[in-house]
Amino acid sequence: KVRVRFAPSPTGGLHLGGVRTVLFNYLFARHHHGTFVLRIEDTDQTRYVPGAEEYILECLRWCGLLPDEGSEAGGEYGPYRQSERKPLYRQYAEQLVAQGHAYYAFDTPQELEAMRERFKTPENPSPQYNIKMRHHMRNSHSLSQDEVTALLAAGTPHVIRINMPADEDLRFTDMIRGEVTFNTSSVDDKVLLKADGMPTYHLAVVVDDYLMKISHAFRGEEWLPSAPVHILLWKYLGWEAHMPQWAHLPLILKPDGNGKLSKRDGDRLGFPVFAMNWTDPKTGELTTGFRERGFLPEAFVNMLAMLGWNDGSGQEIFSMEELIARFSMDRVHKGGAKFDFDKAKWFNHEYIVRTDNEKLAGLFAPVLEAKGIVADPSYVATVAGLVKERCQFINEIWDHGFFFFEAPASYDEGAVKPKWNADKQQFFDAWNLQLASQHDFSASALEESFKALAAEKNLKMGDLQLPFRIMLTSGKFGPPVFVIAATIGREQTIARIAKALE
Ligand code: GLU
Repeated sequence: KVRVRFAPSPTGGLHLGGVRTVLFNYLFARHHHGTFVLRIEDTDQTRYVPGAEEYILECLRWCGLLPDEGSEAGGEYGPYRQSERKPLYRQYAEQLVAQGHAYYAFDTPQELEAMRERFKTPENPSPQYNIKMRHHMRNSHSLSQDEVTALLAAGTPHVIRINMPADEDLRFTDMIRGEVTFNTSSVDDKVLLKADGMPTYHLAVVVDDYLMKISHAFRGEEWLPSAPVHILLWKYLGWEAHMPQWAHLPLILKPDGNGKLSKRDGDRLGFPVFAMNWTDPKTGELTTGFRERGFLPEAFVNMLAMLGWNDGSGQEIFSMEELIARFSMDRVHKGGAKFDFDKAKWFNHEYIVRTDNEKLAGLFAPVLEAKGIVADPSYVATVAGLVKERCQFINEIWDHGFFFFEAPASYDEGAVKPKWNADKQQFFDAWNLQLASQHDFSASALEESFKALAAEKNLKMGDLQLPFRIMLTSGKFGPPVFVIAATIGREQTIARIAKALE
């Protein structure tokens, strides 16, 4: 039975790499008719940020990637917040101590600092607490059993650390990378249980993946160096047969491919990196998100799916059903995926074009409202349909179609009346008069009448259409001018021509 989990730490805004991890979990779970679990990893109280958990849920809701089980959805493996599971972890840490795989360490922060100072060398500027260092520190290795017992009985603050074995090769198969080998001597004696009784990530992730019966664990590549700790813990706790299959997802890279994409890159280059707006509660600093920047959630999700995955066919636009049907971990690339904001905008454009006009009108409504414009929803839908081909963002419906809602405030005189002469003046006077009694105000009927009048006056259509367009819109581009006239209607068309001829 497939059970996967997204396990964020509630420390701030959700980076698009995080949302992609959610998406791959979600697609994998749906593809295999499995369960998608959301577990909140809030054991590090110094990094906890109020509001971050609610924010993560809101992002998942916006993207349409809600979990089947979790802190909000509930489920039989709860609680799903690690802080609420605190009493559960100590027994496993103690079990490891009893088996000789972990040990008590009583070092104070000052002692740890002194160790780093004393042992640092130019080649090794931050010495690790590891097999070589253990004996210099205050722990079960250097103290006698009686001393340890006495310190514990006195309630001395302590942590529990893993005994990383010396020079052992550990192997596991990653679903994306294939066989991966590590040597244990590259890893320090990680803390498993902290002085406050909270587990660290390393202990909690193993215990919870086991207790929550997780079958496949997907996480960012940055966790790969910690994998040996986790593999050993699965082994030492006697759960090796239940260890999930791992997949370490490639990083999302800066547009130039030079390192991991960060929030700062987004600020610098003018694009969002977070899913939704995030306000840091400490500094009040606001970081813009894809949602507020005008991305449709479907476009955002589709774009993310293609950052590191494809189905090999060259297809780029996928519905959620198609993604679920075609997704497989073995088609996720090993290498990092470069983020390309132009491509993201292309996805948004493709989705705007495919979205039905009524829905676009609904999404555009707040923009109109902010401008104090009241318009009939079916009229807004017609406008959206006329300009959507030109839009990358919803608010651009305004840029490309404002003249459907208000008369141009000003014209460039030279543009409305290029090579103006008495003939043209006469034509538009006559045209405006004729419009008052034009029976059929459809675009095609208007075009017919316009053509007929031009022929009658012996003028070229081509010389008249552009001035007509500028009278109505003040611009040179947009939907066919007769469609514009038909849409804004008789009264507006006549008024705008009259004003331009003044
Ligand atoms: N809590 C970890 C993080 O925030 C999750 C890593 C994992 O999925 O195992 O990145």
